[in-house]
Amino acid sequence: MAFLRSQVMRPQLWMVVIFLLGGSLENRGYLASSQFSGVSPPVAIAQGVRTAPRKVAENPWTKKECAQGVELRLSSMEPTQGSLQFVEIRSANQLAQVEGQWDGNEIPFWRSDNGSESDFDVHRALLGIDLEHASGMADFVVSTKAVEGESFACTLSLDVKAGRFATEKLKVAPQFVEPNPEQIARADAERKRLREIFATVTPEKLWNGKFRIPIAGATTGGNFGKRRVLNGQPSSPHSGVDFAAPAGTPVHAAQSGRVVLAEPLYFSGNTVIVDHGLGVYTFYGHLRSFDVKAGDAISVGGLLGKVGATGRATGPHLHWGLTVNRARVNSLDIVKLL
Ligand SMILES: [Zn+2]
Repeated sequence: MAFLRSQVMRPQLWMVVIFLLGGSLENRGYLASSQFSGVSPPVAIAQGVRTAPRKVAENPWTKKECAQGVELRLSSMEPTQGSLQFVEIRSANQLAQVEGQWDGNEIPFWRSDNGSESDFDVHRALLGIDLEHASGMADFVVSTKAVEGESFACTLSLDVKAGRFATEKLKVAPQFVEPNPEQIARADAERKRLREIFATVTPEKLWNGKFRIPIAGATTGGNFGKRRVLNGQPSSPHSGVDFAAPAGTPVHAAQSGRVVLAEPLYFSGNTVIVDHGLGVYTFYGHLRSFDVKAGDAISVGGLLGKVGATGRATGPHLHWGLTVNRARVNSLDIVKLL
């Protein structure tokens, strides 16, 4: 009886501990490499913990001349962990094929329909540098083939800088940071499912134009990349941006796409994932309620649900994540870049 009782009590004790810490229990790699890796409280947002701002708009293109009149441009030559880069290929000749390779993943391009660029055939792509990508040199390889010409590759060597992420060290009685076997099994199954979703690349570009922040009036959020060390054990980094907002605040789609998941998950509570095509996914966690279901087509600004505190959250806030070809990147970057 005592055993049963302790099992029943445990989740409640957790919540007390979570509340006291003002933090979350993301732990021991149970969530390693999942898009969603924990929650962070609005308290921490107020402390303004976030990465140093990147001057995307002021940074001119980095250009590389490739063969056959093809130019490769990147929005920054100093990509940091967890950042998003905008890539452009400009060719004097019509290209039949453009494809990128980065970190073992295929990076799809789309053809620009910008009329003023009609002298060139312009193809664009989003290149995500995963939050935990090793720092140092890494190659971005673009393969192209002109309609009338040979195929060739153009390589850009990028020096990936370490992200400046906050670390928080916490000590807590061990029994309070161990999920029970049932919870571990559930979290594992959900992590696997999320990995499968993010590995699926819809070949069509479903968005058009700029991405927006999902909360009306919000201009920035916090906690991206934040590491927690619980009892000396590093937990996986916080892979989204948190926005403090009252419960019931409408949550809007950052861009148009298709809802691929709308259901409760262990860590992120009521969660919506929108597929924008070309490997770009946005993630909305801790919702109080849903206004969409899986399979729904959604327009930019469409209502997805309401802000809540479901899952492992201490108070109402929106956890907004962005995954681009499996790389977990700062969701605010896509608002600045496009
Ligand atoms: Zn979060």
